[in-house]
Amino acid sequence: MTFSFLSHLECSRTGDRYEADQVAGTSAAGAPLLARYDLERVRETVTREDIAAREPSLWRYHEVLPVRSRDNIVSLGEGLTPLLPLPNQGKQSGVPKLLMKDEGLVPTGSFKARGAAVGVSRAAELGVRGVAMPTNGNAGAAWALYAARAGMDSLIAMPDDAPAITMKECLAAGAELYRVDGLIGDAGKLVGAAVAERQGYQDVSTLKEPYRLEGKKTMGYEIVEQLGWRVPDVILYPTGGGVGIIGIYKALLEMRELGWISGDLPRLVAVQATGCAPIVEAFKSGATESTLFPDAHTVAFGITVPKALGDFLVLDAVRATEGTAIAVTDDELLAAQRRLAALEGAFICPEGAACFAALDQLRESGWVSEDDEVVVLNTGAGIKYPETVEVDAPLLAKTDAIPARGVLRAR
Ligand SMILES: *Cc1c(COP(=O)(O)O)cnc(C)c1O
Repeated sequence: MTFSFLSHLECSRTGDRYEADQVAGTSAAGAPLLARYDLERVRETVTREDIAAREPSLWRYHEVLPVRSRDNIVSLGEGLTPLLPLPNQGKQSGVPKLLMKDEGLVPTGSFKARGAAVGVSRAAELGVRGVAMPTNGNAGAAWALYAARAGMDSLIAMPDDAPAITMKECLAAGAELYRVDGLIGDAGKLVGAAVAERQGYQDVSTLKEPYRLEGKKTMGYEIVEQLGWRVPDVILYPTGGGVGIIGIYKALLEMRELGWISGDLPRLVAVQATGCAPIVEAFKSGATESTLFPDAHTVAFGITVPKALGDFLVLDAVRATEGTAIAVTDDELLAAQRRLAALEGAFICPEGAACFAALDQLRESGWVSEDDEVVVLNTGAGIKYPETVEVDAPLLAKTDAIPARGVLRAR
C-alpha cells in the first residue's frame, strides 16, 4: 500500500519540477516549492468514505501528505479540531450560519502544530538532524516541541517582545533559543547565516521548505469533511506569512481535482491588523505582491509579518476565489476576543479574534450576507496570551462579603 502519493515539487512561480525525495529549500527563482501528488492514483485508491473511518488526526489524509512511511510520523495527536457552531455570536453579527474551526485545541495551543507535525516528520524522514527558524513565537514553540519528540535539535530565533510563553515552551523543549532585538525578518537573516555554517541543519523558515504548508492545508480538508464534503460560502483567516490561507486554497484545488468537492470555491478572506497590513494594501492597490510594511506592530503577534515570501500566493488565493482582504485595529480585535468568550465560552487568540472583528465590517458593508455560511479560523488558544485581558476584579479581605445580586444576565 502506498502511504503517500507525493510525486514531485513545483516552483510556485515558474512551474519548474524538482525532485521530492531530498532535502529541499526554495526554487532556483527563490520562490516557495509546492508539493505535488499523483492525484489520479489517489482518486483510484481512496474514497471519502475510507477517510471517514480513519483515526481522528490530520494523518487521515496521508495519501496527500508528503511522509512516505507511516513509521516516520512524529505526532502529538494533532488535527481534527472542532468546527463549532456559534449561534450567539452569529446572531449578534447577523450571520446565523457562523462556524468556528477551533485550532486552540491542538498540541502546543496553536495551529502551528499542523505544520510542525508534517514538517518535522518529513525532515526526519529525509535525514535532517536539526531544524532552524525565525518565528513570532507560536511556530518556534511548535517546531521545538515536535523536534524534541523526533529526537532532533532545534534552533529558534524570535523578536524579544514575542509572547513569553512561546519562549518558555522552546526552552522546556531543550531548543537553542535566541531573542532578537528586531522583527521576524531580522531573526530570519541571523538564522540563515547560522544554518549556512552548520551540518545537518535545515532552514525551515516560513515557505522556505515545502512541507509546513502541507500540514496546514489539512485545515481545508477538515473543514470540507466536517461539513459533509461540502464547502462553506466564506472562510476568514488571520494572515501573517500566509501559509494557512495558501494551504486551505491548495487543499480546495486538490479536492476539486480529486472529485471530492464541486462547484464554486469558498471566498477566502485574508484578515490582518491595521498595524501590519501589507497584504491588505497590496490587495487594494491591485498589486500582485506586497511591499514591506513600515513600523509593523500589533497585539496579534502571530500576524506581524511585514513582508511575506508567499505574499503573491495569498493574493492569488484571495482573488481567484473572489475573496477580499481587510484590516482591523487592535482595539477592535481585543473587543471581539472578549465578546466571543462572553457570548460563546470560547477564549480565542487575538489573531482569531481579528476575524470576528473583520466579519462585522464585512457584514455591515454587505460583502457578507445573512444567508452566507461563514467559517472563521481561530488559529490558537486565548490562554497563550494572558496579557490580552486585564485582571480588573474586586479584591476582597477575608472579612468582606460578596455583594448580594440576582441572576447576572439572561439570554
Ligand atoms: C502564525 C500565526 C498566524 C498566521 O499564520 P500564517 O499561516 O503564517 O498566515 C495566525 N494566528 C496565529 C495564532 C499564529 O500563530
